[in-house]
Amino acid sequence: MSTLLQVTNLKKHFPVTKGFFQKQVGAVKSVDGISFEMQEGKTLGIVGESGCGKSTTGRALLRILEPTEGEVVFDGVNIGKLTKDELRSFRTNMQMIFQDPYASLNPRWTVQQVLEEPLLTHGKNSKETIKQRVTELMELVGLSPQQAGRFPHEFSGGQRQRIGIARAIALNPKFIVCDEPVSALDVSIQAQVLNLMKDLQQKFSLTYLFISHDLSVVKFISDRVGVMYLGKLVELAPTDEVFAEPLHPYTKALISAVPVPDPEAKREQIVLSGDVPSALNPPKGCAFHTRCPVAMDVCKSVVPKWQEVSTGRQIACHLYE
Ligand code: SF4
Ligand code: MG
Repeated sequence: MSTLLQVTNLKKHFPVTKGFFQKQVGAVKSVDGISFEMQEGKTLGIVGESGCGKSTTGRALLRILEPTEGEVVFDGVNIGKLTKDELRSFRTNMQMIFQDPYASLNPRWTVQQVLEEPLLTHGKNSKETIKQRVTELMELVGLSPQQAGRFPHEFSGGQRQRIGIARAIALNPKFIVCDEPVSALDVSIQAQVLNLMKDLQQKFSLTYLFISHDLSVVKFISDRVGVMYLGKLVELAPTDEVFAEPLHPYTKALISAVPVPDPEAKREQIVLSGDVPSALNPPKGCAFHTRCPVAMDVCKSVVPKWQEVSTGRQIACHLYE
């Protein structure tokens, strides 16, 4: 198993300005110093409440949003050092699937045009090879190539997400950021799309960063799970370990809220008090201390270190230091 992506101390802060001269008065620390690795052909799920920085992380990795700080090394290449032109051709390796396929598809384009566009922009393909590739892509995602002349609104939500997936894999990427790709779909359709994504992963040894607020979805698709809170990773571990024995108090609370199919295996739901604090003025020390049921004095002033507690398992919490 080889490392495809190495992320070190990634930060994305959005400046907050005030007045006529746009004086910077602070920053929203959407992503605030996260580090992790991704293995080729595997899925890393990222979970957390809305506003915790999941989507910003995905965009900063691809430099769709320019990171404020930190390093992203993809297949040995430091992405931050690429020029705009280099980045544009390098992007063929890294694609994105969005939550709302409808919003991300041009309504005036046929599926044919949607799928041709990346091929035309990035390859010097002949008309014939492009046509063939579109047919192949439609088949790969379980759509009939005969429907390529139709417009996005003529398809169901699930089919539109299949088109979004076909567009994402058009240029044979290695890595795809999937930002809530099934959240807008009916539960019955979700499983079909997730299974398709798994199949394609196997076929093309794709690496996914799978962002979702839905833990059951993440459990189904991910090999490892990272839990984010207020711009930081608080726990990262193999999926079965996270669900069988969550360690971080925040992870424990999140998982306790997932319904269990077996009523015998009833467990106590941990209800967190209060809302997620603002990323503009996050609490000092451990950012979770204002809501943590087991917070200690030290948590109010000292930031817990991001450290390995067992093989492949990292956590930031004073309880485990
Ligand atoms: Fe709770 Fe303290 Fe651990 Fe933060 S560091 S999660 S406040 S125990
Ligand atoms: Mg989001």
